[in-house]
Amino acid sequence: MKITGKIEEVRAQVKAWKKEGLTVGFVPTMGYLHEGHQSLMKKAVENCDRVVVSIFVNPMQFGVNEDLDSYPRDLEADAKLCETTGVDLIFHPEVDEIYADGFCSFVDMNGLTKELCGKTRPIHFRGVCTVVCKLFNIVTPDQAFFGQKDAQQLAVIRRMVKDLNMDIQVVGCPIIREADGLTKSSRNTYLNEEERKAALILSKTIFLGQKLVEEGETDAKTLLAKMRENLETEPLAKIDYVEAVRMDDIEKTDVIEKDVLVAMAVYIGTTRLIDNFIVS
Ligand code: AMP
Repeated sequence: MKITGKIEEVRAQVKAWKKEGLTVGFVPTMGYLHEGHQSLMKKAVENCDRVVVSIFVNPMQFGVNEDLDSYPRDLEADAKLCETTGVDLIFHPEVDEIYADGFCSFVDMNGLTKELCGKTRPIHFRGVCTVVCKLFNIVTPDQAFFGQKDAQQLAVIRRMVKDLNMDIQVVGCPIIREADGLTKSSRNTYLNEEERKAALILSKTIFLGQKLVEEGETDAKTLLAKMRENLETEPLAKIDYVEAVRMDDIEKTDVIEKDVLVAMAVYIGTTRLIDNFIVS
C-alpha cells in the first residue's frame, strides 16, 4: 500500500491502473478510521480491482464554531487499518494541496440542503460537495462509497453526480453500530463515560421508531412526537432535529412510506451526534 499527499502521484497511479484495464473504487474520509469506514473499504475491495482511500479533514465543511481543530487524527492507525483491509493507495493531502492560493470555485447545492443538518450547518454541504467533486476529479474512480450514517450527505452526493453528469457509480453502505447500538463515529471519542451511556438514547430512539413503523405507524407527526418524547427522557440530550424526509429530495413528508428517511441530530453535552433509518 502506498501513501501520498500529492495530487500528481494519485493521478499517475490511477492512470497506470486504468491502462491495465483495472477498475478503481474510492472511499473519501476524514480519517480516525473505525469499522464504519472499514465496511466501505471492504465493499470497495469486493467491487473494484484497486481501492483509493482519502484522509482529509476538510476545513471548508466546518462552521466557525465547529470542531475543525479538535477533530481526532491518527494517520498511523488509519494506515494499518487500510493496509489490512486491502486498500492500495491512501491520499492524505495537506490543506494547501487541495486549496491553493486564490481558490474561489465552489459546488453549491440549491436543493436537498435546507432541512436536517443543512439547517444548523449552513455552509457544510457546499464544503462537502466542493471537496468531493475535487477528489472525484483527482481520483476519477469508477465507484465511490458513502455511508448511510450520513444519509443526507449520501443523497446530496447522488444528486451532485447526477446533476453534473459525473461518470461515477455512488454506492451507499449500511450503518455500522457498536455492540450496544451507538453508531460508530470518530466523534464518539469526545464523549466522557457518562455521556457515552447517555448517547445510547439516539440508537434506542431509532430502534423505537423502526418498531413503530413496522407495527404500522404511517403518520409522520405521531411517529416523530413519540421519538422526541423518548429522546427527552435523557437529561443530557438536547435535540437539534428529529425529522422525516423523502430520501431522494430531502423534503419533509407527512406520510411514513417506503424510502422515507427518519433522521435525528442530538447534542450529548457539547457533542453533536446523528443517527437515522430509512423505511424499506
Ligand atoms: P467521515 O470520516 O466521518 O467523513 O466518514 C467517511 C465515510 O464513512 C462517510 O461516507 C460516512 O458516512 C462513512 N461512515 C462513517 N461512520 C460510519 C458508520 N458507522 N457506518 C457506516 N458508514 C460510516
